[in-house]
Amino acid sequence: MITTLNPATGQTLGEHLVQTPESLEATLSAAFLAQRSWAKVPIEQRVRLLTKVAAALRKNKDHFAKLITQEMGKPIVEAEAEIEKSAWTCDFYAGAAEGYLADMPVKSNASDSRVVFSPLGVVLAIMPWNYPFWQFIRFAAPALAAGNATLLKHANNVPQCALALEAVFREAGAAAGLVSTLLIDASTVSSVLSDNRVAAVTLTGSTAVGKLVASQAASLMKKQVLELGGSDPFIVLSDADIDAAAEAAVKARFSNTGQSCISSKRFIVQEDVADRFVELFCEGVRKLKVGDPLHRETTVGPMARANLREELHGQVLRTLDAGAVLAQGGHFIDGPGFFYEPTVLDHVSDSMVAATEETFGPVAAVMRVRTAEEAVSLANNTEFGLGASIWTSNLEYGVNLAKQIEAGAVFVNGLVASDPRLPFGGVKQSGYGRELGEFGIREFTNIKTLWIG
Ligand code: NDP
Repeated sequence: MITTLNPATGQTLGEHLVQTPESLEATLSAAFLAQRSWAKVPIEQRVRLLTKVAAALRKNKDHFAKLITQEMGKPIVEAEAEIEKSAWTCDFYAGAAEGYLADMPVKSNASDSRVVFSPLGVVLAIMPWNYPFWQFIRFAAPALAAGNATLLKHANNVPQCALALEAVFREAGAAAGLVSTLLIDASTVSSVLSDNRVAAVTLTGSTAVGKLVASQAASLMKKQVLELGGSDPFIVLSDADIDAAAEAAVKARFSNTGQSCISSKRFIVQEDVADRFVELFCEGVRKLKVGDPLHRETTVGPMARANLREELHGQVLRTLDAGAVLAQGGHFIDGPGFFYEPTVLDHVSDSMVAATEETFGPVAAVMRVRTAEEAVSLANNTEFGLGASIWTSNLEYGVNLAKQIEAGAVFVNGLVASDPRLPFGGVKQSGYGRELGEFGIREFTNIKTLWIG
């Protein structure tokens, strides 16, 4: 049984039966057959499905947003934005996929040689709860356009979102089996991955689970894309617009109640502007409205699960024990639900827990440095490499530093955000492979050489 709780109240939300082995077998079989037919549908027809999904997402935005908020606690306004972004991404690939996957002529000694992009087959998608619609759609829209089918193993705290996703594709005209939700425990995933009808896997989640799935996929020689954790730096140089940086920092850290892989987590600030930055940052944090995520004025909701809040608080306590200074927050909020005070830890050093581990919740770590070079070196002193943000009024210098940062994306004078037009992914322990943009749609294709004598 999969039992879900509303994280804002701690009360039971729903119960879903786990699939039986027979039902799982039927789902796998349907996915395999659906993909074989779908691959034969011309791409200009395949993308029509995405246009219809985009329309259905927009039409039912209020309903889907409420499902998200009830299951994982995101403020409702952010949940609505998630649905809008998912719809935009479907529309984006509906327009761009054909061009991205068009045959690519390459000159050689053949009379005609080119690269063609064929689908891989059924892709298992292991997805997290933090953006329950977006994380799946950003993978599925390009993967389906490329002719693949997908099995969705969603996080077990968001089964209603998972079932709603399957239904939205089905109602938009997807054949049975093309997009299927698996209601299974994590322990059953390895048997699905090892099934011969599954060709590849994508996973967004923790690095620990990413490594488990990656090693199994490698032993089976199955293609994988891994979007894992992050501890993104947010570098503020002395010459930056400190007001703008502090305002952006609040969004960069506390959107989605801080539960995002690309949230900025380490705020690396040059000494001479650090006091001013911390003052403005804390001022912004105090203005956040923590509360019922269904209220439109709420900007910070509960954390998604009780154990995630416990772990985060443990990280805060260990960082304070090691000598960091509590500038703001730092406690559970009493009452039902898994609320945590928006927290700022100042004078964090690189050996403290808030710098060495990913903090997946509303906790910011401020680290002070003397020079820009020191900032870059500290930014890179992490096992992760997902995103980074640099604030400076010298754009040329900012670009120069950006090139030295070990991350999948660096934003100069902007907060890190995904965009369907741009590739998204990480290096180091943040994973490998790319989603979104032109690179993303090619991940689940066979990049095939066609040579004609
Ligand atoms: P997990 O990595 O445990 O879960 C992510 C997905 O993997 C879920 O669908 C989960 O299913 C599934 N999963 C878990 N264990 C296995 C397994 N052994 N084999 C196959 N699939 C598995 O993340 P959590 O939700 O527990 O969050 C823990 C931490 O992960 C966070 O604190 C954060 O650091 C990181 N995280 C990162 C995210 C990102 O966007 N990169 C998103 C979410 C979390 P089930 O729910 O059934 O366990």
